[in-house]
Amino acid sequence: MVVILVGPPGVGKGTQGALLAEATGSRHIAAGDLLRVALRDGIELGRKAQDFMNRGELVPDQLIVDLVCEVVEKMDRDVGAVLDGFPRTVGQAESLGGFLSELDRKVDVVVVLEAEDDVLVKRIAGRRNCGQCGAVYNVHFSPPKQEGICDQCGGSLTQRPDDDPVTVRHRLDVYRRETAPLVSYFHESQAPVRRVQADQSVAEVQRAIREAVGG
Ligand code: AMP
Repeated sequence: MVVILVGPPGVGKGTQGALLAEATGSRHIAAGDLLRVALRDGIELGRKAQDFMNRGELVPDQLIVDLVCEVVEKMDRDVGAVLDGFPRTVGQAESLGGFLSELDRKVDVVVVLEAEDDVLVKRIAGRRNCGQCGAVYNVHFSPPKQEGICDQCGGSLTQRPDDDPVTVRHRLDVYRRETAPLVSYFHESQAPVRRVQADQSVAEVQRAIREAVGG
């Protein structure tokens, strides 16, 4: 199955995508994580993406399409994919559709996660990431055992540069302008779209997503 998770920043795509992939034996492909790894590893593509990311803008379509499609292409056809944060524009969705059909695959279901802006802003303000292993915490909802230190690897926890309140507001605007139109695009392109209220506990949201994808 190819599942696409669509939703504004802070809605929980990363957390829910990882849980869904684990539960269904699929691969979790998070576009933002791929970009951050490329940046951390000093790959040219990461450097090209950095300014866009820090400003809260979307990186150019071709750059992210190439990055994600390269991962999907290498996957065994029998392994499912949970695409998190990709596609984020209608152009990316069109490229993905063409690419998947070459592989004789298709988008099986689109899950749209929804929550009010103040919930998103609060969640993002509390988000802390481990620079070493990528684990994500939230000082309000899922704090590490020791402040500032990753439970899993002992790395230090920091705030993403694009998680400051001004950039977050901009990312929400970008979501509404560029990404929200994807929902009607998928309706028109016959991919089933399921809406899930994400303003609930992690377990409740996961249950609703599993129901939405039929598993
Ligand atoms: P995320 O980790 O999903 O919040 O993404 C962080 C940043 O990476 C975004 O604000 C964009 O700058 C960039 N990014 C991630 N996914 C995409 C995408 N599909 N298209 C364009 N830019 C993206």
